[in-house]
Amino acid sequence: MSKIKLHWQILIALALSIVFGYFFTDHVGYVTWMGDVFLRALQMIIAPLILSAIVSGVLNLGSTRNLGRMGAKTIGYYLVTGLIASTIGITAVNIIRPGVGTDIALEKEMLLEADTATLGQTLLEIIPTNIFQALAETDMLSIIFFAFLFGFFASRLGPTYKAPLEKAFNAVFEVMMRITMFVIRFAPLGIFGLVSGIVAEQADDLAGVFSSMGMYMFTVIIALLFHSFVILPLLMINLGGINPGKHFRAMSVPLLTAFTTSSSSATLPLTMKAVEENSGVSKKTSSFVLPLGATINMDGTALYECVSVLFIAQIYGMDLSVIQQVIVVFTALLASIGAAGIPMAGLVVITIIMSVLGMPLEGIGLILAVERILDMFRTSVNIWSDTCGAVIIAKSEGETLKV
Ligand code: ASP
Repeated sequence: MSKIKLHWQILIALALSIVFGYFFTDHVGYVTWMGDVFLRALQMIIAPLILSAIVSGVLNLGSTRNLGRMGAKTIGYYLVTGLIASTIGITAVNIIRPGVGTDIALEKEMLLEADTATLGQTLLEIIPTNIFQALAETDMLSIIFFAFLFGFFASRLGPTYKAPLEKAFNAVFEVMMRITMFVIRFAPLGIFGLVSGIVAEQADDLAGVFSSMGMYMFTVIIALLFHSFVILPLLMINLGGINPGKHFRAMSVPLLTAFTTSSSSATLPLTMKAVEENSGVSKKTSSFVLPLGATINMDGTALYECVSVLFIAQIYGMDLSVIQQVIVVFTALLASIGAAGIPMAGLVVITIIMSVLGMPLEGIGLILAVERILDMFRTSVNIWSDTCGAVIIAKSEGETLKV
C-alpha cells in the first residue's frame, strides 16, 4: 500500500465519518469499536517502542560527547519553539480579545479536580520506584529516564556485553516498527470509528457551541496555524535548508492520526515511521528526538494554554498585567512539558497556571464544550513540531534527507 494511497484512504475515512456521525448519531455504536481497537493497538506498542527506541538510540550514538550534543540540540529546539508558541498564543489573545464582551454563562459546573502536583513533585516522580510499574502504566517520563540511564551505561560496557545488548535492543525496536506498520494498515477503519464517535457526541449542540465559543476557537486555531505554517517552516528553511511543503506532505499520516486520536503518545509509532521512511531521517536521530518530543515538546498545548487562561481571565473581567502574562507564558511552557501525550492532558494542566495566578478554577468549565475539538488541532501541532525538530536536528548532524 503506497503512502499516498493510505493518506487518501484516511482522508476519505475522515469525510465519511463526519457524515456518518452526524446523520446516524444513534448508530455510531456499530463502528466506534473499530476506533477503540485501533487506539488500543497503538497504545500496546508505546511502552516497548519507547524503551527500545531510546536504549538503542543512545547506544547507537556511541560516545558521551555525541549524546550531550544531540541532547542539547533537542532540548534547545523544544524549549525555543515552545516559548515562541506560547508568545504567539499570548499575542493572539491580546489582539483578538475573544473573552471581552462575551455573554457565556458563568455557572458551568467544575468537572475537573485541580491538579495539585507541584513542579518539584513532578520532577521527583520522573525517577520510577519500579521500572516495571512505569512500563505497565506507560509512564512516559519515567520510561524515558530509565531508558537513557540504561542506554548510557550499556554504551560504556566492554564489547562482550555491549554488542549483544545493542543487537537485542535494535532487534526489539525493529519488531515494534513492524507491528506499527501492520497496525497502520487499519488506520482508515480506526479513524472512521473514532471520528464518527466524536461527531455523534458533539452533533447536538455543534451550532450552539460554535456561535458562543467561535471567537475563542478562532483565536486558538489561527495562532496554531501561524505557528505551524509560518514559524516552523521558517525555522526549517533557515536552520536546515529543508523544503517545508515536502516535509508536510511526508507527514500526512501521523498528522491525520494525531488529529483524530488527540494523543501524541499513541501517534508516536506512526511519527517515527514517517520521519524515517518519508523524510529520510536516520533511525539514530529519530529514535532519540521523537520519543522525547512526544512527551515534552508540546507547542500546540503551550499555545492553547496561554490563549485559554487569558480568555477565561477576560471573561471574568480580570486584567492581567504584563508581568502576569509573562508568568503565564513560562508556566504554560513548563506545564506543556509536564503534560502527558494523551487526550485532554492540556486541559488538566491549565489548572496549574490558573492557581499560580490565583484565578477561580471553575473558569475551566467555560472552555470544556470545545475542548475535544481544540485538542485535535493542538495535538497535530505538537506532532508537527516534533517532526520539524527531527529533520532540523538530522540536517545539523550532516544527514542527507529526502525533504
Ligand atoms: N492531547 C495532547 C497530546 O497528546 C496533549 C494535550 O491535551 O494538550 O499531545
